[in-house]
Amino acid sequence: MRVEGLHKSFGELEVLKGIDFTVRPGEVVCVIGPSGSGKSTLLRCVNLLEEPTAGTVALSGTELTDPDVDIDRVRRRIGMVFQSFNLFPHLSVLDNLTIAQRRVLGRTKDEARRIGRANLRRVGVSEKESAYPAQLSGGQQQRVAIARALSMEPELMLFDEPTSALDPELVGDVLAVMRRLADEGMTMMVVTHEMSFAREVADRVVFMDGGVIVEEGPPTRVIGDPQHQRTRTFLSRVL
Ligand code: ATP
Ligand code: MG
Repeated sequence: MRVEGLHKSFGELEVLKGIDFTVRPGEVVCVIGPSGSGKSTLLRCVNLLEEPTAGTVALSGTELTDPDVDIDRVRRRIGMVFQSFNLFPHLSVLDNLTIAQRRVLGRTKDEARRIGRANLRRVGVSEKESAYPAQLSGGQQQRVAIARALSMEPELMLFDEPTSALDPELVGDVLAVMRRLADEGMTMMVVTHEMSFAREVADRVVFMDGGVIVEEGPPTRVIGDPQHQRTRTFLSRVL
């Protein structure tokens, strides 16, 4: 995934002021930065939930920002997990996992269930397949949301603060699932305030402030030995 010269404004407010970066296949990139720095907007521009004001976003050679590209086709290749779990409350866990597979990918009910169950196993909530979202803990709901995204077999997974709505004791289960995905070679872009996750799992950390990338590099450098005062100030508040 490659982002070049990305700008995003909402009216007069310029939120992204020229972002360039690449996520290579199998790489885990963590995006950190203060509230309002544009992290969520960046993630939303990457799968075109927001239309960039300028610049390009490309996924394995397909330019998503090309007006001739069928954006729905490309978006299927990108999984997204939000802070709020966004499960369908009136559907069982398994039906939450199969509905998009059937409607969007045209899989049969049996195939969608087989793939859904395999992904529930992967995130450790197999025993809840018949439950409804309201009957699950926040951590279980978030793991179901991850399993739902994985069932579409995306080539890139985007996570926007997936643990920040969770009670502290539930955070670890979700991070463990994400860590396992990273170990399996999933390409991931993760906005997070979990510095220990970023330090241990990220191949690269991107620090954003005021709509620009202030610095990026391996976690040992960006978190362990930041080069910019803005990064140091931010880290001193969150570490
Ligand atoms: P946080 O850590 O709090 O989630 P963030 O880094 O994800 O912050 P964004 O949500 O990307 O920040 O927001 C960046 C700026 O863009 C903020 O000033 C926000 O108010 C503004 N913004 C985001 N979405 C919109 C929108 N749809 N319309 C207008 N302004 C927006
Ligand atoms: Mg955000």
